Amino acid sequence: MSRHRVVIIGGGFAGLSAVKALANAPVDVLLLNRENYYTSSPLLHQVATGELEPELIAYPIRSMLRHIKNVQFITANVKQVNVSSQCIQTHKYVIPYDFLIIAAGSDSKNVGIPGAIEYTFPLKKLEQAVNLRNQIIHCLEQAVLEVNPSLRQQLLTFTIVGGGATGVELAASLTEMIVALVKDYPTLDFSEVRVVLLQAGDSLVPQMSRRLRMYVRLRLEKMGVQVILRSRVRQVTSEAVYLQDSRVIPTKTTIWTGGVTGNPLARTWGLPLARDGRVIVLPTLQAPKHPQVYVVGDLASLPGMPMLAPVAIQQGEMAARNILRQIQHQELLPMHYQHMGNMIILGRYDAVLDLGKLKITGVTAWLIWLAVHLLILPGFRNRLLVLMNWLWGCLFGECLVRLVLPLPSVNKLPIRRKKMQVMGYIYPKSRSRFTTLRIHGHTDMDSQENY
Ligand SMILES: Cc1cc2nc3c(=O)[nH]c(=O)nc-3n(C[C@H](O)[C@H](O)[C@H](O)COP(=O)(O)OP(=O)(O)OC[C@H]3O[C@@H](n4cnc5c(N)ncnc54)[C@H](O)[C@@H]3O)c2cc1C
Repeated sequence: MSRHRVVIIGGGFAGLSAVKALANAPVDVLLLNRENYYTSSPLLHQVATGELEPELIAYPIRSMLRHIKNVQFITANVKQVNVSSQCIQTHKYVIPYDFLIIAAGSDSKNVGIPGAIEYTFPLKKLEQAVNLRNQIIHCLEQAVLEVNPSLRQQLLTFTIVGGGATGVELAASLTEMIVALVKDYPTLDFSEVRVVLLQAGDSLVPQMSRRLRMYVRLRLEKMGVQVILRSRVRQVTSEAVYLQDSRVIPTKTTIWTGGVTGNPLARTWGLPLARDGRVIVLPTLQAPKHPQVYVVGDLASLPGMPMLAPVAIQQGEMAARNILRQIQHQELLPMHYQHMGNMIILGRYDAVLDLGKLKITGVTAWLIWLAVHLLILPGFRNRLLVLMNWLWGCLFGECLVRLVLPLPSVNKLPIRRKKMQVMGYIYPKSRSRFTTLRIHGHTDMDSQENY
């Protein structure tokens, strides 16, 4: 009997967890990811504020899968999923599947606010974190030369929209970055620098208990962050943020961490969507009416499951287990999320940890945060270097990465079909009749309709 092929879209927390659960199982797995590396998103804010080099929080996916025999990986941007003909389309190829796990993650939800897409800095991907770091340092460099006080104020005001966990962590880290940079800019008056945190609701980090919410707010204010609650953004331009209550914040840097939506690509795939753009799934993580399609991680909408890394990891594993059960005609299992608690780092030596009845703050919580985030980082070298960077930062209070670097541009070289054929099962899009190419060069002719 031929082995079933499981295609996984997305090599983030959920996709890689599914891969691990399918390792050495009697199925062939093909993992597709837009980049050739995995990113540990919970550390993105530290890249944006120069605490860590970008390479330290990313890891080549091929190296992670090196020892798993039944898994292949391709760097590919999936454009379309056709659930009725059971195939997916990348920028160049059409790939059929027996089972599909969609783990394509989420995106920033800033649509509908004029100027938000054009003028805000998102923080979802590694290159966005580098871009933001460039912008922060660039603004300081420009401010040194700026004699006009109102233009200098724009350059030295950093506005974060969204007082959830990411916004709070970034605000704390950004404040520390600025303090660390004082000695590099002796001619700049750092009392002019403002970090503003805008939150639409009544409190920061609403998922935390009341006591911890208060703790977080007081800590940020003590660090010098200007927290503005009940502030809804009306418009963003390259020079200011306009609030609905007609307040205006002059700023050249508006960072968007408020609200998240399911990966917008999924909107065209014919799957049922919740209001936040995530795909509605059954408790078994299958898409309704498409038992071969599983949706996991940030993209899956299931009651009581927040967009968090532990949810994604557990769902990826559960989808993989259910696929193996489905192949063996066993009853599928519903997803039960085991909540691990919430934690937020508040700069150096402080964090909050909400484990239900147990709440921890201060240095103990900070040490736990560091340990957990070190453990989820793939690669021993990465862990060691991240630990060293943290120690260095604590000892010398320095912002380690202060270069304004050009972002890498991807060279669009044509992919030679012969090379792709070796990977197997790739269907050139341009042809009307397809050839199924099996691994190790063995060719099996199959005809399919053009996608
Ligand atoms: C700045 C930040 C801080 C966070 N901090 C925390 C935290 O402290 N704790 C916590 O629990 N959670 C945190 N989260 C949330 C956590 O990172 C997500 O819940 C988790 O990453 C979701 O996993 P996922 O696999 O669904 O998506 P992701 O990890 O985002 O992976 C999605 C993958 O799909 C790929 N992809 C997307 N579109 C395509 C396509 N068209 N074709 C091919 N590949 C595609 C992407 O390249 C990516 O690799 C944070 C998120 C961010 C952005």
